[in-house]
Formats: sequence, structure tokens, C-alpha cells
Amino acid sequence: MQPAQFAVFGHPISHSLSPQIHRAFAQQFGIELDYRAIDAAPDDFAAAVHRFFGDGGRGANVTLPHKAAAFALANRHSEAATRVGSANVLTRLADGGLAAHNTDGDGLVRDLTERHDVDLRGHTALLLGAGGAARGVAWNLLDAGVDTLTIVNRSPNAADELADAIGDPARAHTRYWEDLADIGSYDLIVNATSAGVLGAALQLPFSLIGARALCYDLSYGAAAGSFLAWAQAAGARYAFDGLGMLLETAADAFELWHGQRPDTESVYQLLRRQAA
Ligand code: NDP
Repeated sequence: MQPAQFAVFGHPISHSLSPQIHRAFAQQFGIELDYRAIDAAPDDFAAAVHRFFGDGGRGANVTLPHKAAAFALANRHSEAATRVGSANVLTRLADGGLAAHNTDGDGLVRDLTERHDVDLRGHTALLLGAGGAARGVAWNLLDAGVDTLTIVNRSPNAADELADAIGDPARAHTRYWEDLADIGSYDLIVNATSAGVLGAALQLPFSLIGARALCYDLSYGAAAGSFLAWAQAAGARYAFDGLGMLLETAADAFELWHGQRPDTESVYQLLRRQAA
């Protein structure tokens, strides 16, 4: 019998750790699977997804730049995917349709609260960016108990749209990127911009760092280097990259597909050793 087929779609995708992560999770349960990375340009994405599922694919992870398109392709949508408007996981339904899920926010909060043992309640949070990933984590940070969420994006309209969609002005509001030096300090600073992966360094003032500041970059590896170096130079108490979030979101997808929750910590440590 052929092993069940899974894939990650992106463009580019050669850098993706998802195949290695899913194979490592599958080994924990003795599950045989065929997990591939599929590079699909935006114009080819819908056809590539239909081909994959038409050929028997069971589930797919979706990454940049296809998350909104993945949401649009699906017939059913989880609550999280609906409020974010994009999907990072597609699952084939029994009737042949597709279900869209968004696990980014759960993954971030689980990494912070379980791996790094952080209690987010009462934190003042600054969210840098208002793209797909920022939308993916914003509601979950509020649900996890942050006191306020200040959203700052280079293009202010996207930040305003996100704050409007959240619809809780007492807790979630926007400020201008140009005013970063004047907006005070925060307990939690989440970099959800793609500046790092694009090779750009953010020019951030040290004044953002509060006394108990925790800085978190959703990107990982070299892409997170500049933000984490800034956080350390500014005296942040903790500075984490998004590798743990990636593992937790992958575990959510694995559980959706296989009905079993993998141990993420052993794979996290393995990837950390490899990166070192
Ligand atoms: P999007 O393309 O949807 O959004 C990009 C965001 O970055 C926008 O807010 C954009 O601002 C901002 N931005 C880009 N360049 C700059 C710059 N030079 N200065 C200031 N702001 C900038 O990307 P995503 O939201 O999907 O992804 C963002 C990051 O999160 C990526 O690095 C991705 O790898 C990471 N990620 C990590 C995950 C994990 O599991 N660890 C999961 C999902 C994402 P503007 O609107 O002005 O263009």
C-alpha cells in the first residue's frame, strides 16, 4: 500500500523545514508518509493544489505567498481561519472538498506559554506588522490575556483594518510606524514583519523595551538575527525566534491529519542542534 501523501506548498519552498518536521513526527508513531515540498508560483497554485488532492493527497501545509489563496480554495473554514482570512493547513474532507485551518496563533501562544513558560496575562503587547502572520496571531494574543495590543505597520491601512476586524478598541489599537520612538515601552514585542526574510533590518528604537520585555520574532534562523540582536542590545529580558511556533503549528496540522499529538520538544532540540 502507498503511504499517505502530504505536502507543503510555497514559493519559494526549498528552505522549508516542514518535510523534515513531519517525517520526524511520523517516526514517533511508526506512521509511514510521503511528505513533499511543492513549489507553486501564484498563478499555478490552485491547479497544483487540485492536482495534489485529486491524486490522493490527504493534507497540505501552506506558506508564503499562498495562505489567502488557500483559504479561498477551501469549501469549509475553521473559526480561526475565518477570522484571519487565510489558511496554513488544508485537509481533504470525506466528500472530496477541502477544509481550511489557521494554526499560526495557537502555535505562537503554545510556544510562549508551554515551551518558554510565559504567562501572557497583563502584558502590554506591541505587534509589528499587519500581514497574514500578524493577523494570524493577533486574536490569540488577546485571548491569551495580553492587556493591550498595539499594532504598528509600515503601511497604516493594514494595521487599521486589523484593529477594526478585532473590534475591541479599548484593548487593540494602532499607532504609526513613524511614531515608534514616541509610543513608550512594552512587555511583549512581536515582530511579525517579513523584513528579516527579505534581508532588511528594521530600525527600531531601544525605548520600546520595557523592564520585563520579551521579544519574539516569528521568523527563525538567519532571518531573525537582526531583530534578536536589537532586542539583546536594548536589554530585553528574553528574545526568541519563531522556530518553536513553527513546530507547534506543524504539530497542530499533524494532529488534524493523524489524530495523534506528536512530541515537539525532541524535534525542536534536533533542529536547534542542526542550526548550531
Ligand atoms: P506578509 O507578506 O503577509 O506580510 C509582511 C509584513 O511585513 C507586512 O506587514 C509588511 O508591511 C511588513 N514588512 C515587510 N518588509 C518590511 C520592512 N522592511 N519594514 C517594515 N515592515 C515590513 O507576510 P506574513 O505575515 O505571512 O509573514 C511574516 C513573517 O512571519 C515571515 O518572516 C514569515 O516567515 C513569518 N512566519 C513565521 C511562522 C512560524 O511558524 N514561525 C508562521 C507564519 C509566518 P507592509 O504592509 O507595509 O508591506
